[in-house]
Amino acid sequence: MPNILVTRSSMPGMQEYMDEIEELWESHWLTNMGTKHLKFQEDLKKYLMVDQVELMTNGHMALELTLQALNLQGEVITTPFTFASTTHAIVRNGLTPVFCDIDPVTYTMDPNKLEDLITDRTSAIMPVHVYGNLCDVDEIERIARKYELRVIYDAAHAFGETYRGKGVGSFGNASCFSFHATKVFNSIEGGAVCFHDESLGKALYELKNFGIHGPEEVCAVGANAKMNEFCAAMGICNLRHVEDEISRRQAVVQRYRMHLEGIEGLQLNQAQPEVKSNYAYFPVIFEERIFGASRSEVFERLEKNGIGARKYFYPLTNTFSCFHQRYDVNETPVALHVSKRVLTLPLYADLCLQDVDRICEIIKDCKR
Ligand SMILES: *Cc1c(COP(=O)(O)O)cnc(C)c1O
Repeated sequence: MPNILVTRSSMPGMQEYMDEIEELWESHWLTNMGTKHLKFQEDLKKYLMVDQVELMTNGHMALELTLQALNLQGEVITTPFTFASTTHAIVRNGLTPVFCDIDPVTYTMDPNKLEDLITDRTSAIMPVHVYGNLCDVDEIERIARKYELRVIYDAAHAFGETYRGKGVGSFGNASCFSFHATKVFNSIEGGAVCFHDESLGKALYELKNFGIHGPEEVCAVGANAKMNEFCAAMGICNLRHVEDEISRRQAVVQRYRMHLEGIEGLQLNQAQPEVKSNYAYFPVIFEERIFGASRSEVFERLEKNGIGARKYFYPLTNTFSCFHQRYDVNETPVALHVSKRVLTLPLYADLCLQDVDRICEIIKDCKR
């Protein structure tokens, strides 16, 4: 049996990509906002149904430069149940992360716990659409308006989703996507910020190019986060197929549900009303007391069979050793509970349904 990894990058046909990059051998224009970059940006605007898009080298730089562009101070409320990138973007901007607990069903920021964390130092909220589960955007917006806070969504998991027919990238002041190879949609490495405000766009455009304003003026301490032409070309190609990819992911998710729904001690991810899902991840919570086997036992059993599941997100970012116990993990008990029990199962468009059957058999076999 060949090994099954937790994910497998989507790629266009080789010829399709070759055709897309061919003209780069004529222009010799490889980066710095070339034709591929500009076309990919326009294609994304349409597909994501958003006003403005600024491409970046990766999702992390999208987060980091958005925080910088908004000129934030003090504290940013976020969640620890996320990838290192979210918290790091805050800390690397000299801001203080304040950790809000998550909702036990969607795994996203629990807005009922948000208001208590707001102080006169709070400048923004950075929630995460975890596993493609949409945050409670309505309630977060209400609170943000009341306290005049900025909202920056980490939308790395939410590519192509809509809520009530609106693109997910249109919520908040900005939404940051990742096009990393392991995501639903990739440009090898890449990312983008979606937003409404044109002045934010100008600031992002300059920050991704060292803060260069004109030939003789550098007006901000920017970074280098320009997406190159080869990545943009990959994005253009993959975007043509993303709907098909998502529907094949949906078939995999349905197969998992068919096998695992109703098993005592397992909590499966719930579909959200009015959200068009991208089927980014298939997380399962293993409640050892009821299921009989722990998350780690299942993880190891799968590993022995050549199947790569992932403890995603474990550990919580507020326990990372780089933060030297600066944060108290007991302030986010739901996140702690989930992170100790969750496993995301292999999920990608090419995963064949017989392999899903086999994975589920192994999981069921762990039940005691
Ligand atoms: C992948 C990811 C990022 C970072 O994106 P990169 O493109 O890898 O830099 C940020 N946040 C979350 C939740 C992610 O999953």
